[in-house]
Amino acid sequence: MSFSTLSSVARVGTKSSTFQSKRFLAQVAATTPRASSYKVVVVGGGSAGLSVASTLANTLGNNAVAVVEPADVHYYQPLWTFVGSGLKTFDESKMAMSEVMPEKAQWIKESVASFNPGKNTVVLGNGESISYDYLVVAAGIQTNWGKIKNLPETLGKNGVTSNYSAQSVQKTDEFIKAFKGGNALFTMPSTPIKCAGAPQKIMYLAEEQWRKAGLRPKTKINYFTGLGKIFAIDKYANQLLKICKERDLNINYFIDLAEIRPDSKEAVFNVIGGEAKGSTLTLPYDFLHVTPPMSAPDFIKASPISNADGWVDVDKDTLRHNKFSNIYSLGDCSSLPTSKTAAAITAQSAVVKNNLLGDIFGENEKITYDGYTSCPLITGSDKLILAEFSGYTGKPQETFPFDQSKERLSTYLLTKEIIPDIYWKYMLKGTWDGPAKYRKMFGTV
Ligand SMILES: Cc1cc2nc3c(=O)[nH]c(=O)nc-3n(C[C@H](O)[C@H](O)[C@H](O)COP(=O)(O)OP(=O)(O)OC[C@H]3O[C@@H](n4cnc5c(N)ncnc54)[C@H](O)[C@@H]3O)c2cc1C
Repeated sequence: MSFSTLSSVARVGTKSSTFQSKRFLAQVAATTPRASSYKVVVVGGGSAGLSVASTLANTLGNNAVAVVEPADVHYYQPLWTFVGSGLKTFDESKMAMSEVMPEKAQWIKESVASFNPGKNTVVLGNGESISYDYLVVAAGIQTNWGKIKNLPETLGKNGVTSNYSAQSVQKTDEFIKAFKGGNALFTMPSTPIKCAGAPQKIMYLAEEQWRKAGLRPKTKINYFTGLGKIFAIDKYANQLLKICKERDLNINYFIDLAEIRPDSKEAVFNVIGGEAKGSTLTLPYDFLHVTPPMSAPDFIKASPISNADGWVDVDKDTLRHNKFSNIYSLGDCSSLPTSKTAAAITAQSAVVKNNLLGDIFGENEKITYDGYTSCPLITGSDKLILAEFSGYTGKPQETFPFDQSKERLSTYLLTKEIIPDIYWKYMLKGTWDGPAKYRKMFGTV
């Protein structure tokens, strides 16, 4: 059975005729006594977990699939760049978990605390043990706010904000609008993060608002990245550097934020590369947008399923675990050497679903992941550079038959208005596996 067959098996009514009853069913599922054993257990009900669980649950039937997910709310995080700049509301980025949980899956509203791959079990936070035939690990990335001194207590106050938290993303919009000029700092850490473009997208949107408000002459904007490039792929990086030059945005490389001093409104940075390596830099701020350091989640790091860096150790082509053949992983917590985005998950989920269902039904038509990922680099409230590339080859992998490194209104509208709809209606329901078929249609493969 190929994925396209599975996809049509899984195609459920896209419409929310059933929202009320769905919510009821999911709430019942989350609270009724549950089995201690499932055909497939999915860890995490985020973008990756649900896009896989939907198809598996529809294909394997009622309660063959369990999703272990502690949160009440599911967020479409890519919208937070728009929320942080006032172009979308926070409410548009969220949905009750009960509304997006696949109807035929059992929602186990707990956290996974540890893995016992030798025994095919996971242990929940409440001590309960759940066994599985197959395990899909999709628990996302961990944001380490505490690694920046004083950040947890400063976030959301006096001009310090971050689009990387549901708690502070609306503060970004508030602080941008309240800004009266001065020093604006934007940071990007040297660790792997989700959506490596997001730390700079908010800078372009803030700068546009301050320019329109006449604040630019009395505003200095600095971007600090712990990395040595503004963006990994040269085609887009070159374009971004031109924009930064034209708009007087100073880019500083190999510098990591280390501390915030809220009383004096100063940010302290560690210089981690270049001639000044080993020194520190202290700068006053009036506005500070922080992207926190991130890592693999601690409970995965401490488990037998992680690699040396803490990520779930999977084969980059098949997404199957390198040691435990009945475990798959995708999304931000996986070891896949590509950019961590929801866009990447569209292609990864197709591979996991196809290969896992192939295991179950004894089929051998395995498919492989090519490293596809995408980052819509929003550079203004009406323009965007749609970076699409393979993290495996480092080469652009664009969908449309035009130069996507140019800023465009069309790709801005696609990202702001159409892709969110695709996410809620199709990706979470397991029926969107990325734009590969459009690349074939447009002949851009
Ligand atoms: C500001 C911002 C902008 C972004 N912009 C874009 C963009 O433009 N385009 C794009 O493609 N991507 C973007 N992303 C990235 C995208 O949101 C993520 O890559 C994507 O959500 C990852 O999906 P995931 O399922 O791996 O993790 P998540 O969606 O984060 O889900 C992980 C889930 O696992 C659950 N979980 C955690 N621990 C446990 C546990 N112990 N047991 C059980 N469950 C657990 C969590 O509660 C969560 O529901 C952006 C992200 C941010 C924050």
